[in-house]
Amino acid sequence: MSNNHTKDDLAYFAEIILPLPIAKLLTYGIPPHLLNSIREGSRVIVSLGNKKLLTGIVNRLHQTAPPYATKNIMDVLDESPILNKQQLAFFQWMAQYYMCTIGDVLKAALPAGFKLSSQSKICLHPNFDEAHATFSEQETRLIEALKNGKTLSYQQVERLAGQKEAYKLLKNLMQQQAIMFLEEIQEKYFPKKAKQVSLNKSYVEDSNELELLFQQLEKKPKQLDVLLQYMSFVTEISEPKGNYFISKKKLLQQGISSSSLQNLIQHGIFVEKEITVSRIEQIKSLETSNTILSPAQTQALLEIKENFKNKNNVLLHGITGSGKTEIYTELIQEVIERQGQVLYLLPEIGLATQIVQRLQKKFGDKMGVYHSKYASNERVEIWNDVLSGKLRLVVGVRSALFLPFDQLQLIIVDEEHETAYKQFDGTPRYHARDAAVMLATYHQSKVLLGSATPAMETYYNVQRKKYGLVKLTERFSQTSLPKITLVNLRTEQRHKKLQGEFSRILIQALEEVFQHQEQAIIFQNRRGYASYILCQTCAWVPTCQQCSVSLTYHQFKDYLVCHYCGYHFKLPPVCQECGAHTLKNMGFGTEKIEETLQQFFPDKHIQRMDLDTTRRKHSYEKIIANLEKGYTDVLVGTQMITKGLDFGQVSLVGVLDLDRSLYFPDFRSNERCFQLITQVSGRAGRRDKQGQVIIQTANPTHPILQDIVAYDYEQMYEKELLERQKFRYPPYVRLIKITCQHPSESLVKESGRYLTQQLHQFLDVDSILGPQAPLIAKLKNQFRMDIWIKLAKSTDQLLLAIKEQIQEATKRLLTQKPYRQVRVIFDVDPI
Ligand SMILES: [Zn+2]
Ligand SMILES: [Zn+2]
Repeated sequence: MSNNHTKDDLAYFAEIILPLPIAKLLTYGIPPHLLNSIREGSRVIVSLGNKKLLTGIVNRLHQTAPPYATKNIMDVLDESPILNKQQLAFFQWMAQYYMCTIGDVLKAALPAGFKLSSQSKICLHPNFDEAHATFSEQETRLIEALKNGKTLSYQQVERLAGQKEAYKLLKNLMQQQAIMFLEEIQEKYFPKKAKQVSLNKSYVEDSNELELLFQQLEKKPKQLDVLLQYMSFVTEISEPKGNYFISKKKLLQQGISSSSLQNLIQHGIFVEKEITVSRIEQIKSLETSNTILSPAQTQALLEIKENFKNKNNVLLHGITGSGKTEIYTELIQEVIERQGQVLYLLPEIGLATQIVQRLQKKFGDKMGVYHSKYASNERVEIWNDVLSGKLRLVVGVRSALFLPFDQLQLIIVDEEHETAYKQFDGTPRYHARDAAVMLATYHQSKVLLGSATPAMETYYNVQRKKYGLVKLTERFSQTSLPKITLVNLRTEQRHKKLQGEFSRILIQALEEVFQHQEQAIIFQNRRGYASYILCQTCAWVPTCQQCSVSLTYHQFKDYLVCHYCGYHFKLPPVCQECGAHTLKNMGFGTEKIEETLQQFFPDKHIQRMDLDTTRRKHSYEKIIANLEKGYTDVLVGTQMITKGLDFGQVSLVGVLDLDRSLYFPDFRSNERCFQLITQVSGRAGRRDKQGQVIIQTANPTHPILQDIVAYDYEQMYEKELLERQKFRYPPYVRLIKITCQHPSESLVKESGRYLTQQLHQFLDVDSILGPQAPLIAKLKNQFRMDIWIKLAKSTDQLLLAIKEQIQEATKRLLTQKPYRQVRVIFDVDPI
């Protein structure tokens, strides 16, 4: 299939990005019949190597023949591009900055539904209707072969139709919507059908008829129940007049009798129909009125707009409960009115149901939610809706940065300090906040970063006047921030005032909360029952076989679990080392706290919110709903409770074990601790009353605690900044972490040493830390060695040059025979 071009041909070429970790973009020839349909940003089919077919993206069209013989592009998949120029430029930047290939970026960016490779399967299109078309003999043969849900690989089609004809045949059938490609057999795209029911029109239009119907059903309570539930729905969802159809599934979820409903349908009292629904839940916008902002919010909104006049990036530093979301909503509204698009980034969608619902009510079907955990079909639908301009607002997690916006005017990065914005696993290891700032430059759009506890890096940019700053120092409810009290655990212990993990002061505070019928949150940032098990005789601690960490005990399942790889086994009755019956629980997690509280307050409703209790679908929403309804008296939780929640009735927050976070060996531990405790504290405070926070600690004089109690962010920032400057850490320098990984410990160590030597050829001694084993030296059976590189802040060009040198040094390592199997991972700006 490959046509060779010589320099004398009037040839056109296309530079193609393939979803592969190949550093260079490959150039292909464009056959004359595709010249009119090929565009930059469109998907094309190309072959790589022998017969491997791949979907690639056209990066650039040009007329310069490369120094090698080119193959021809086989076909163009899209009539119009699925990626635009801004995206291509953004992907290129991301590859360079985060030290990966543009193919890696493309792979992360495109929903699986857009990728087609030789592994793809071909099947009949679900809407295919044979009666309405005529096909050639060959086409008919293929269609026959695909009937009854069968699939064929590309190779099988080639065998059927001959190598030359295969692609043409498939393309024709695809254009006629007779067939489609599947990425995987499991991922069949079928339009989603749903049943709807409505009361027969005659009853809806005539209230007398309806009256009669009620009387008629009086003796049939189950059917009456169906009618009543239906009526409550119709008013509740307030559909536009004339459409009284509601989802049958939703109606059945109300606990009505399904046979009674069926009966009513049979008698024509209710009618039923089937519709095709979008996979993306459509919510009609309900709120037409504008949000009413407090004077402080109005002021902040004005200041943001003023700042945007000469700054592209603005930090909204608003204390917890100050109502940042209302301000975002106003700004979004304005951009949408100007026909622009808005990207609203959240650290985690699953934990932000409240915000998402509020925005959905306001923006209805102009808004889409993008989540990497969504099925590929849904992601393709959102992608296409952004491309067509139908969606004006996308609320999403970090991968939403890759969507094909072309009217992007505003990016909001909510809770910008959150570490969830960083991609930890898999290439590219990007930080969505930083990438958003870059993305905005390609669109000339504005970026609003919001946080009660900004990241040091962000505040540093404010100080250097790179970012604008707007402060919101008043709570929306106008109550003060909760009062924070420190309880000295050592004194409590000395005076025997500790009950389990609880100080007398905290217990009393809880009792008061119960007296006033208010609610409390107890924060413990460790799940499970015991943090680890220790033999009192020989000091044996059960550890993971695959990772160098101790196992956490979960009482509910009676398991010891590794929180890093999931490895688990049943708790042995005796010590596995010495056989003594002296195994003891050490430390405590949320499970233990829940148990202790239940023992103290047997008649109170204690609920727990952590990774273990929120695994099942909707379990998170249920826990929130129970708290909102006032059913829960105490919620025990990990830091999950700090994410995007807005509880009206919580008047007390207790923090049990702060000291572990205080002394975590990381240069960011003070900053993290300040952020975490400020966010946790922010959950306290009713609309009409100041809340209270009790922190138990063995180190009440720790400087960071003084800043936390005083809610003094600037103080914390200034102190930390001095430390960072002294020890050369961000924001003063840039960090790059290089990790060598391999199942053999000695090989990892040697490769780390070799690579460090290579790095010393162009970096000075002060710039390289390591090689050193990370805190968890072995993870999932892979030993690891880290090399940290500290680079002084310099120009982008210089930084890029150093990154290229690092990549060259790594290449030298990986071409050494013993190190070929070592995996080297780059993490730029690690956190
Ligand atoms: Zn022992
Ligand atoms: Zn493990």
